[in-house]
Amino acid sequence: MKSFRFLNPASLDEAIALATAPDAGDARFLAGGQDLLTEMQEHLAEPDRVVNLKSVPGLDRIEAGGGRLRVGALATLVRLEREAAVRARWAALSEAAASVASPQIRSCATLGGNLCQRPRCAYYRIEEARCLKKGGTECFAYGGSNKYSAILGGGPSWIVHPSDLAPALVALDAEIVLRGAGGERRLPLEKFYVLPADGDVTKETVLAPGEVVTEVVVPEPPAGARSTYLKFRERESYDFALAAVAASLVLQDGVVRTARICLGGVAPVPWRAPQAEAALLGRRLDAALAKQAAAAALAGAAPLEQNAFKIPLTKTLVERALLALAR
Ligand SMILES: Cc1cc2nc3c(=O)[nH]c(=O)nc-3n(C[C@H](O)[C@H](O)[C@H](O)COP(=O)(O)OP(=O)(O)OC[C@H]3O[C@@H](n4cnc5c(N)ncnc54)[C@H](O)[C@@H]3O)c2cc1C
Repeated sequence: MKSFRFLNPASLDEAIALATAPDAGDARFLAGGQDLLTEMQEHLAEPDRVVNLKSVPGLDRIEAGGGRLRVGALATLVRLEREAAVRARWAALSEAAASVASPQIRSCATLGGNLCQRPRCAYYRIEEARCLKKGGTECFAYGGSNKYSAILGGGPSWIVHPSDLAPALVALDAEIVLRGAGGERRLPLEKFYVLPADGDVTKETVLAPGEVVTEVVVPEPPAGARSTYLKFRERESYDFALAAVAASLVLQDGVVRTARICLGGVAPVPWRAPQAEAALLGRRLDAALAKQAAAAALAGAAPLEQNAFKIPLTKTLVERALLALAR
């Protein structure tokens, strides 16, 4: 690991100033370290400065009230998994948090770090492979080993976004709050992520250098709302999603009044499924409708040589999630 300066700011403003100072070089924020430290060990990240966000007070709150849930970027996943209000009213979020990695990792990993974590594609993680994500000219998954790659929204990179929390929060219509040297900005979480074809292929988000995720704000679900997160992984003990679905519905007498569906593990960003949502609206949710919505969610899928299995897998997850919410 390359040597670096480790800095413990006492405030958010100080953290941003330390990361954006003219002599900062490559500065990175550290939260739970469950991704960043591995990146540094593997020479994927070689920062000159590591700015520790854990020394900034007040970034770890979880507050439910006033028509919304506010979760600070430093809130750990174990707290999101266990917090009674989150389990009761934002079930998809607590279920997604509970599905991440192992209890040890969840007790260190934070919301902000989970949303900003880097891809898990083996080519990206191998130091020697200079893939498109690392400034190279080629996505080696295309025509290479692509069992775990994207089936939706792929090209010119076929990574899948690894976060479990992101699809759940998109399905719950969350907003993300960012703060940088130029002030604060808020955007729908969905707009935080960018497809490889739409921006800088070496990045997954619109986060600017020196900008901090401060919190995520989730609206209070209306009466009749329910949500869930279903994930399929190869290794049951702990693993990233081969495919996942977050669904949030408002049902009245069994009829779908609003629907938000977001897929995980299948696209370079958390993947909204608007055709599936449209197929559900105003209709009674039964097995036939769940199947129809699942087919609509995967209608645009374009698998590579080794990952067509993700299509029936993801359809099954969508069907199961919808039927679980209908019960
Ligand atoms: C064995 C293993 C299994 C895993 N399994 C899963 C899984 O199943 N599902 C899943 O979703 N994840 C999984 N992960 C990834 C892990 O959950 C995430 O890496 C973790 O949530 C990151 O959080 P952190 O607080 O440790 O982030 P860090 O490692 O501290 O940071 C991660 C990245 O985010 C940036 N960052 C952190 N906080 C902020 C902020 N507030 N503002 C701006 N930038 C920030 C850092 O600079 C860094 O680039 C796994 C990790 C391991 C090691």
